[in-house]
Amino acid sequence: MTQTDTTCPYCGVGCGVSAKVVNGQPQPVSGLEQHPANLGRLCVKGSALHETLGHDGRLLQPFIDAQPVSWDHALDTVSRRIQQVIQQHGPQAVAFYGSGQLLTEDYYVANKLMKGFIGSANMDTNSRLCMASAVVGYKRAFGSDTVPGCYQDLEQTDLLLLVGSNAAWAHPVLFQRIRRAKAQNPAMKVVVIDPRRTASCDIADLHLALRPGSDVWLFQGLLAYLSQHDGLDQDFIEQHCQQFETTLQQALAQAANPEQVAQQCDLDVAQLRTCYQWFRDSRRCVSLYSMGVNQSRCGSDKANAIINVHLASGKIGKPGSCPFSITGQPNAMGGREVGGLANQLAAHMDFNADDCDRVQRFWQSPGIARSPGLKAIDLFAAAERGDIKFLWIMSTNPVVSMPDADRIKRALANVDTVVVSDCMADTDTMQYADIGLPAASWGEKNGTVSNSERRISRQRGFLPPPGEARPDWWIISQVGQRLGYRQQFDYHHPADIFREHARLSAFENNGQRDFDLSALTELNQAQYDALTPLQWPVNERYPNGRQRLFDDGHFYTATGKAQFVPLQATAALSVSQPPGRLIMNSGRIRDHWHTMTRTGQAARLNQHISEPFALLHPQDAKQRQLSDGQLVEVSNQRGRLLLRARVSDEQRHGEVFVPMHWSDRYSARARVSSLIDNTHDPLSGQPQLKISLVQARAY
Ligand code: SF4
Repeated sequence: MTQTDTTCPYCGVGCGVSAKVVNGQPQPVSGLEQHPANLGRLCVKGSALHETLGHDGRLLQPFIDAQPVSWDHALDTVSRRIQQVIQQHGPQAVAFYGSGQLLTEDYYVANKLMKGFIGSANMDTNSRLCMASAVVGYKRAFGSDTVPGCYQDLEQTDLLLLVGSNAAWAHPVLFQRIRRAKAQNPAMKVVVIDPRRTASCDIADLHLALRPGSDVWLFQGLLAYLSQHDGLDQDFIEQHCQQFETTLQQALAQAANPEQVAQQCDLDVAQLRTCYQWFRDSRRCVSLYSMGVNQSRCGSDKANAIINVHLASGKIGKPGSCPFSITGQPNAMGGREVGGLANQLAAHMDFNADDCDRVQRFWQSPGIARSPGLKAIDLFAAAERGDIKFLWIMSTNPVVSMPDADRIKRALANVDTVVVSDCMADTDTMQYADIGLPAASWGEKNGTVSNSERRISRQRGFLPPPGEARPDWWIISQVGQRLGYRQQFDYHHPADIFREHARLSAFENNGQRDFDLSALTELNQAQYDALTPLQWPVNERYPNGRQRLFDDGHFYTATGKAQFVPLQATAALSVSQPPGRLIMNSGRIRDHWHTMTRTGQAARLNQHISEPFALLHPQDAKQRQLSDGQLVEVSNQRGRLLLRARVSDEQRHGEVFVPMHWSDRYSARARVSSLIDNTHDPLSGQPQLKISLVQARAY
């Protein structure tokens, strides 16, 4: 028997997993007691991991135009076509679209190849759909993409605001930790701020079922309330912050009156005041926020509205106190660390002249992209226009996950060469591949991931990849070498890449940048293999990692002070809601992951909720003569879904919730993203996946 310590590949909690193999057969996995993220716990998805390791449906050999080919032929063709496109159309006609499922080492090499050697920043990822707004929020406030706190803060707090997060289903192990902390400390209060009454409300002392999209109003109102009710930390504001007065004046001008805020948010004013009072009176508070905040046309402002109240009350950088964005994917954070988004460079550097020069010097690249590339929505729009001639999609399924998903099909059909590297053979996106490359999957590949609390953990392989599947870093490096950059992409093991990544983080850093792995730059392969989970930064001052940032009052802005961001709350909806129309919200269910390419294989994960559904309020169901269990057609001008009606007062009147997971592969007419338009946050580029106007009728 072999036993391997690794990390769960699903959500951003990043749980440690012990994987056993007997006679080549994977055995039931268990939670790693010594992993700080989960302390031995696993949720139902994590504990079913061994059931998803079969080879059914795997892509086992490279193909070109549906014909199996050798790796050499496939890699030669990929590099030749990239070269041809660069020669004929320039580097901006090349694009990569990656995934928070990639390991940090995969991400690093893809980003390096694209930005440093192809010379375009057109590399975006599905992380754009997950937490791009949170990144803007952090960078505007702190000058850096820094998650200030750690999971222990959730257990040490007096007040937990769960904002736009159904952690009970989307981040279950973290929710278990919160539940336990509350049981041990009954004085701890939990407020859920979410339009739906979700499973997370089971432990809520207060549920604010606000109007979708009205969060900025709620937090602007809280800032005004704190100033009116002696809730400000004047010392902290004066010593460590800037732009407070302007920000406060704007909040007071707009949201000084809780009655008015309650009206905008469609809340009971007494409940709103209770929340405000608890925030003011709690010495420690964590605001944990997720997709309900980020996936919005004003997601960045929502994030800064939350951060503003933490700065104003000094509830940051202390045990049990911080604004805390929790990511959806297992390695969305690792992607951010290597610059795996079109508007980032690498190691938390940006596209200013100094950073571009620095990264180019470090990579010894012939040139470097000097301005941000196309974010996901713009990238696929460019593809639809015919401006992208070569598109490489890595480990993700945009035909199901991107908004306006039918447009993605048209876009892919309009690209000369679509390369898809994936472990599965028959995803909705693979059907559009001119070239398919078989990638190694979880349990077969090696590397690192970073979870939502900045903790870097090893993912370790314990099974051989089937057929000719190869790790993503190897595939991308081989293309880099074939493009003529043999030395710069001469990697033999992910440890080589991790060392380089750590060295870049330390390169000409001098404490200027938050992301710093300078204590890990000399790891040999054995040390890398034995690496235990660590929270960055990991440097001379914090050789074992740093639990909490900003505890020293230092921020990464030019002045070293945090910035309040003046905000203007806007109407929750950008268009009016005509009579008879519903606001559709999309999101996760407990037992499935993304587009189900993995969890769809585990029979027991289909038992909790076995088919796509539409959750309707009883009044909306009655108006449509719909009863629980009937088929309902949910539609708008973009498309139609056929779903099972679930009728419950968990849902707000006038709204409908539809899960995001099902594609046409699993259930005809269930692809929710085909009804969602391209409305997005202008700063972050993150799509508004939570608000679409639809109609519903009995089928
Ligand atoms: Fe995996 Fe997330 Fe469940 Fe942990 S909580 S076992 S990381 S899915």
